[in-house]
Parts: sequence; structure tokens; C-alpha cells
Amino acid sequence: MRPFTFERAADAPAAVRSGRSEGARYLAGGTTLLDLMKLDVERPARLIDTSALARDPALARIEAGERGLRLGAFAHMAAVADDAGVKRHFPLVQQSLALAASAQLRNMATLGGNVLQRTRCPYFRDTSYEACNKRNPGSGCAAIDGHNRLHAVLGVSDACIASYPGDFAQAMIALDAQVQIAGSGGARTIRFADLHRGPEEPARETNLRQGELITGFTVPAGDFRRSMYLKVRDRQSYAFATASAAVALRLENDVVRDARIALGGVAYRPWRAEAAEQMLEGKPFSETLARQAAARAFAGAKTHEHNGFKVALGQETLVRALVETARMEIAG
Ligand code: SF4
Repeated sequence: MRPFTFERAADAPAAVRSGRSEGARYLAGGTTLLDLMKLDVERPARLIDTSALARDPALARIEAGERGLRLGAFAHMAAVADDAGVKRHFPLVQQSLALAASAQLRNMATLGGNVLQRTRCPYFRDTSYEACNKRNPGSGCAAIDGHNRLHAVLGVSDACIASYPGDFAQAMIALDAQVQIAGSGGARTIRFADLHRGPEEPARETNLRQGELITGFTVPAGDFRRSMYLKVRDRQSYAFATASAAVALRLENDVVRDARIALGGVAYRPWRAEAAEQMLEGKPFSETLARQAAARAFAGAKTHEHNGFKVALGQETLVRALVETARMEIAG
């Protein structure tokens, strides 16, 4: 690990003041950043410990109900997954967190850190490989002709085919969440869908500016009780998604009035499957329709030597999630 300076921020304004300097990085739960520092992939010059911010009630809030969802970015994953209101009103959000990582990691990791976690591409995490545009811009991509079984099939480019590893982000993008951000230029709010970037410049993964700090997430009011997060992985106890589907449906007499679909484990960034949603909306739900929507969701897939199976797996995951969600008994 390389030398760095370490400081503790007492509150969000202090963190943002320190975060402005080039090479500064925020440390929250540390469940990703410290690993990558040990691997020499991340090389921050200045580490700003933000763990004290979790004591600010606004930054750790968990409010879920009929008026929507408000989550502080410093709430821990486990606390949100255990919240009764989140379970009742936003089962998709609760499941995306409960199925992520291990219990120990969920106790440490914050929501803000979770959405910023970096890819598990082995060539990215192993600095003995020269070619990685994400770690070493302009060097190429070792995965394209390498071991790419777990890489993405949607939203990829010739520059990078890494898959986004998170689960909670799929729930956020499916539910049209917004992200609150603090920075030296003041506070701003953006759509969650605009937080992550595409693969054109793999080293730039988000639209956050230097020193900006995610402070919260909000989901507008809506009835999302008929929703679920289905995660398929190589090892059921603890693994990143090989394929996942975040689904929320609103049905009226079996007709789909609103469909929300996001796909994990198969795409470069959190992935909203809007064309699949449109195929469902306004039609009576059936498994046949779900299969048509799943085919639509993967219509633009680009596979490589070892990950072609992800198209069929991703489609089956989505079909199962849609069918199970449509069959849910919703009280009231
Ligand atoms: Fe690097 Fe992306 Fe290629 Fe992996 S897929 S080696 S992260 S450029």
C-alpha cells in the first residue's frame, strides 16, 4: 500500500472542504476502497474518513412509507434491509440489500459507498495485467480476448466490457430514484439514472465531480409492494450477481399499468430495461408476454467467448421475476 494522509471529517461540510483537493477520496465503510488500495488499484493521496457522518440523523435516515422512500447515504446496508417500513413498502429495495454481500459487510457498508463500488473484473483488480482501460486508460482491455465469463453483455464497448457489481443500484434505477449530492459548489440532485456513466471512458465511472459527496437517495411516492429482486449467482451464500432482475409491477385486473425493470450482473452500469417495460404496459400479463419482454430486454446484447450464456440466463431470471411478481398476493 502506498503512503497517504488520513483525516477524519466531523461533518459533511468539513468532508466536502477536504475532498476538493486532487487525489482525495472518501472512506465510509471501507469495504471496497481498502481492498483496492491493498491491491494497488486505488492510490489516493488523501483519505477522508467520513464514518462520523453516520451520526447525523439526516445522513443516516431511513424513512419508508406511502409518501415515498428517503434514505441517508450513510445509513448502513443492514439497517435499511432490516427496516420494517422498507420491507413493507419497498420489498425490492429490501431484497436488493439483504441479498448483497455478507452480513459482516452489510453491517459496515453504507448506501453511498455501495452504489460507487467498482467492478470485479479480475484484470482490473490485478495490476500485473497491463491492459485495462479502466485502471490504465488507453492500454486496451485484457478481458475482451481473455476470461470473460462474468463480464457484461449489455451497454458494453470495445473499450470495456466490465459488469457493474451492485444490487441496490438496480432497485434505485428501477424506481426512478434521485440522488442528493453535496459539493463545494452547493447541493444538487440528479436522477439515479444519471449517476453512472457508460463505457466510452472506462476510468470515469460516475458523473460526480471531484469532492462531491452523495448524501441521500429518494424514491417518489408510489405503490411498489408488488416488487422483488431476484439474484442468480454461482454461490448462493455469498457472491456477486451472475444475473439479476429488479421488478415492480402495478396491475389492474391482470393488465399491466406500470412496469419497472432493471437488470444486474449483465450490464456495464445499472441497467433500466425500458423497452421491456413498454412491451408489458397496457397488456394482460402472461408468461408468454414476460418472455417477449425478456427477449426485448436483451435484443442489443453483445457477447464474447465465455459469456454468451448470460443472455439466456438473464432472460430466464427476468421471466421468473416477472411471473413471481405478478402472482404476489397484495393485501388491501
Ligand atoms: Fe479493464 Fe474493463 Fe477490460 Fe476489465 S473489462 S480489463 S475493467 S477495460
